[in-house]
Amino acid sequence: MRAIFWFKRDLRLKDNHGLYELSSLPAEIIPVFIFDKQLLNDLDGPASRTGFLVSALERLDAGLRGKGSQLYCFYGQPEEIFARLIAELKLDALYTNRSYSWTGDRVQKKVEALCRKKGVEFRDFHDSLLVPPEKIEARKVYSPFFRLWRSALEREDVSVKPEPERLLTPRLKLPSLAETSKLLAHEVNHHWRPDYAERRLKQYNFRSYDEVRNKLDEDGTSRLSVAIRFGLVSIREVLAAARKQLKVESQYVKELAWREFWYHVRHHFPWTENLEFQEKRRGLRWLNRDEDIKAVEEARTGYPIIDAAINQLKQEGWMHNRARLIVASFLTKDLLVDWRIGERLFKKYLLDYDEVVNAGNWQWSASVGADPRPLRMFNPQLQAQKYDPECRYIKKYVPELKKIDRRLIHSLELPSYHQPIVDHRSAAIRAKRIYLG
Ligand SMILES: Cc1cc2nc3c(=O)[nH]c(=O)nc-3n(C[C@H](O)[C@H](O)[C@H](O)COP(=O)(O)OP(=O)(O)OC[C@H]3O[C@@H](n4cnc5c(N)ncnc54)[C@H](O)[C@@H]3O)c2cc1C
Repeated sequence: MRAIFWFKRDLRLKDNHGLYELSSLPAEIIPVFIFDKQLLNDLDGPASRTGFLVSALERLDAGLRGKGSQLYCFYGQPEEIFARLIAELKLDALYTNRSYSWTGDRVQKKVEALCRKKGVEFRDFHDSLLVPPEKIEARKVYSPFFRLWRSALEREDVSVKPEPERLLTPRLKLPSLAETSKLLAHEVNHHWRPDYAERRLKQYNFRSYDEVRNKLDEDGTSRLSVAIRFGLVSIREVLAAARKQLKVESQYVKELAWREFWYHVRHHFPWTENLEFQEKRRGLRWLNRDEDIKAVEEARTGYPIIDAAINQLKQEGWMHNRARLIVASFLTKDLLVDWRIGERLFKKYLLDYDEVVNAGNWQWSASVGADPRPLRMFNPQLQAQKYDPECRYIKKYVPELKKIDRRLIHSLELPSYHQPIVDHRSAAIRAKRIYLG
């Protein structure tokens, strides 16, 4: 048998369910990755994001070469590329891991239909979530979902599968990663290297998570989101590492379950890609003022905590979760900017950008999503005082405030800094009127 293994968001050899299954068969395996042209155009982010992807693929390619194989890489539309490969390579099968995102699912369905038409076996495997979304009946709120998820998890095989020993890959005249990556604008990502994940998994103190996860000025969260997004480590490896130190009910595992909750919402309420989960919150009177949106993206809102968060996002391609919550509340409640605009802002810069998780969180933060609370709104000043009391986070990402006393920063008495673009107190009254009528 001759089969393609199509890598997508699972850029690893260890505990890769689809690859594991395929490598147990007597098969010639052709590992393929496609830089999806439409997806890359649509993402339109900094060149260092593509640079990170290229370095993650280099790592995968090196691993494959160590198994007597190599990665073949293409740039274009997956269904067109596979149509060509099926015609040229006398393929019997195409194996991959299942895509659960909106875009991934649409692309995968086209490839699946093509395979069916051409008589090529298509198989996709459950890999990127701990519990497949279809195994849990629909829940609209996280807590009841978590209870079902936790018991479903006990029935799942979450053991970590080893890397395949060797892969039998034919030498073909197909483009290598080096050849294809030349076609793409990319630059080295100095902030993130793909091998960080294994180190982090070994060194991270999961036990301290509860205590430090909200502290903006500490390296307290696991920072594994990037690795999870690209599949540099499997989600079962993350669970196993956490479980060595913690129980299933721990906050860390609950965060992993939040990720699965958004996929659950995507599965059972698929229209939420662009539409509010809560019907009563559709058609809110957003202001969407260009000057507000620009001030946020350019980190000059006059609220140092917001500006610091945006600078972190742009410099690192990552933002602390607490900062994401503060920014999302500020944009949607203080400025009354449509959550879809915020979603696109994060999409442009986040290295861990995941359309399902991002849309779910933006809707939640905008109080239009899967959340029973009628209105959540943060006061950015109080949030800064609570989670960055010494202003270490603010001073790191807004260096012009480095020498300013923290009390002045917290009270916004900053004559030589940007003036606040909105007054929080009156914005809160306005938001209540718009949201609650
Ligand atoms: C407005 C907004 C947008 C977001 N967009 C994204 C996104 O595009 N991609 C993304 O991966 N996360 C997103 N998040 C969730 C969360 O902020 C990040 O997963 C987290 O900050 C990543 O850092 P970490 O790996 O150190 O997380 P940790 O706190 O160490 O958590 C461990 C893991 O749990 C998962 N997780 C944690 N919090 C959440 C959450 N609220 N929802 C879903 N999963 C979670 C992540 O996989 C994370 O890596 C968003 C949150 C908000 C408020």
